[in-house]
Amino acid sequence: MPVCSALHFGDMQRQFIDKAALRMVACPVCHAALTALHPEALLCTGCGRRYPIRDGLPVLLAAAAERP
Ligand SMILES: [Zn+2]
Repeated sequence: MPVCSALHFGDMQRQFIDKAALRMVACPVCHAALTALHPEALLCTGCGRRYPIRDGLPVLLAAAAERP
């Protein structure tokens, strides 16, 4: 999981995910951009899946995503 392990948002999770960091990540299912709708989850702008953020690290796995 090179994309996941390269990103650690740390304290920024308390505010919102840095938008510049978000440009580096994409939905593993549909490759659309992700948006920080919630401080503890990333929302895919394409398919609407929600990816959890655990310990400041977004879990960009299809198996971990919540479907809309
Ligand atoms: Zn998607």
